[in-house]
Amino acid sequence: MKKIAIYGKGGIGKSTTVSNLSAALSLLGMKVIQIGCDPKADSTKNLMQGCKIPTVLDSIKQKKDGLALADIVFEGFNGVLCVEAGGPTPGIGCAGRGIITAFEKLAELQAFEYHRPDIVLYDVLGDVVCGGFAMPIRDGYAEDVYIVTSGEMMSLYAAVNISSAIHQFRSRGYARLKGLLLNARGITDEYELVAKAAREIGTGIVHFIPRDGHVQQAENLGCTVIEAFPDCEMSGVYRALAELIIHDTNQAAG
Ligand code: ATP
Ligand code: MG
Repeated sequence: MKKIAIYGKGGIGKSTTVSNLSAALSLLGMKVIQIGCDPKADSTKNLMQGCKIPTVLDSIKQKKDGLALADIVFEGFNGVLCVEAGGPTPGIGCAGRGIITAFEKLAELQAFEYHRPDIVLYDVLGDVVCGGFAMPIRDGYAEDVYIVTSGEMMSLYAAVNISSAIHQFRSRGYARLKGLLLNARGITDEYELVAKAAREIGTGIVHFIPRDGHVQQAENLGCTVIEAFPDCEMSGVYRALAELIIHDTNQAAG
């Protein structure tokens, strides 16, 4: 079982990338669990016909001791298993705490033992790497980390923060940074800017994802590009990312 966390600044394209990756991996015959670690709880929406699934936190509140695995793990496109950790009411409680509680509940209900996924993908909001948001890179939850960034300053800034958090935990033998996923915004010299930032944090760009109108069109239909437009170029980009992750041939290039 491969356990991968995908981090990045808010709105940078994590959920789009992760859900297309899950869809592409499932079509390559992989059993995938996608776990949204963002209080907004919309990571898996495009795998679920545009619908938001109940979050682990909300289901715990509702079902209490009667909570079953089927209340928190939902089957989406091509058998991809979808989970949303959820978060507290805005202004009350710590968002990261929700992730910790959700992980504990998944472990208690033996989600991985029951579903036996080949790949677990954590979609993590990573502007601020506080205790809860660092959870996927601690305690062996994720082994490999990718950071989604564009050439925009704030997303590169977040990438630097996330990479130093990984570095902190690395000495204890936890997750390693596999590289950056450049989700392009189309700014001038974007590839060079990101490559330079990557070198500065001791990593590289493992995949280039262009800006493409099919993403928005698919989203409007409530699905991934892989599902809505399997033959378009962008689907090929996500499929290539899936291949790269399966075969672990992703030696980042600076
Ligand atoms: P959040 O931190 O709020 O969860 P996110 O990082 O998960 O955000 P997404 O929701 O995946 O970001 O993407 C934000 C917006 O950018 C979406 O409307 C999506 O359609 C668009 N988008 C993401 N990647 C691309 C792309 N490669 N081409 C075109 N549009 C894109
Ligand atoms: Mg998201």
